[in-house]
Amino acid sequence: MNQITTCNYCECDDLTPILQVTDHSITNEKFELLECFCCGLIHTSPQPSETEIGKYYQSDNYVSHSDTKEGLINKIYHIARKIALNRKASIISDFHKKTSLLDIGCGTGYFAAHMQRRGYTVSVMEPDPGAAEQAKQKLNVDPYTTLEAVQGTYKTITMWHVFEHVLDINKTFEKIESLLDTDGVLVLAVPNPESPDAKLYKENWAAYDVPRHVYHYKKTVIKQIANRYDLKVHSILPMKMDSYYISMLSEKYKGGNILKAIWNGLRSNIKAGKHNTSSLIYIIERK
Ligand SMILES: [Zn+2]
Repeated sequence: MNQITTCNYCECDDLTPILQVTDHSITNEKFELLECFCCGLIHTSPQPSETEIGKYYQSDNYVSHSDTKEGLINKIYHIARKIALNRKASIISDFHKKTSLLDIGCGTGYFAAHMQRRGYTVSVMEPDPGAAEQAKQKLNVDPYTTLEAVQGTYKTITMWHVFEHVLDINKTFEKIESLLDTDGVLVLAVPNPESPDAKLYKENWAAYDVPRHVYHYKKTVIKQIANRYDLKVHSILPMKMDSYYISMLSEKYKGGNILKAIWNGLRSNIKAGKHNTSSLIYIIERK
């Protein structure tokens, strides 16, 4: 485990502890959130190394629940996922239609398959062998298993709730920049630690999801990172469904109830407006 003593993005050594958070879904281990005074990046500390991270993913918790309450959360999650899928496709088609698309961290290929059906030439990257195999069957495309291996240039690159899991920010952005076509767009969705539901649930906010989420990105930090790699944030779009799902999980960790979660999700969305919801989508392009 790597104790964080300097910022992994800007190398500043002025890090402030802001919260202690428990791994609620698998190990019950405690982690600290450290915010960099210089750039604002929030780190999970300690961070599991590439070889240690496996044990924090060993669970079916996310999808296969059996009791009613957890089953209900999952049912809602699956309905929301379908609605979200159509919205994702419509956001992308505002920029590029039926062109090349690279989905980084494609999982089982659910989103990539949807885009393939809509006429996009889809490439995918997925490090998990099981998920990559399912994506291969679904897409009839050989997934890349590392980002380094990805070749070519793309009109659209998507990372749906993936970047917060990635250890090396600089290496990742440098590679993404090299893969982006001149008029290409990077669509990056990450949880928003400044959202009203994050402020409300504090250490119980489910989207901290430590230590699987190694960083927690404020808007200013995403803008700085893009800027370092000659990119810029074109626009920020809300993800309103996430506040309900995250509130439900957060209430579960607190021993609260589902009605309270729905109420808090709604309140969070009203307070958040368009640019401060539970998760945000960043549309990033070349300067
Ligand atoms: Zn920093």
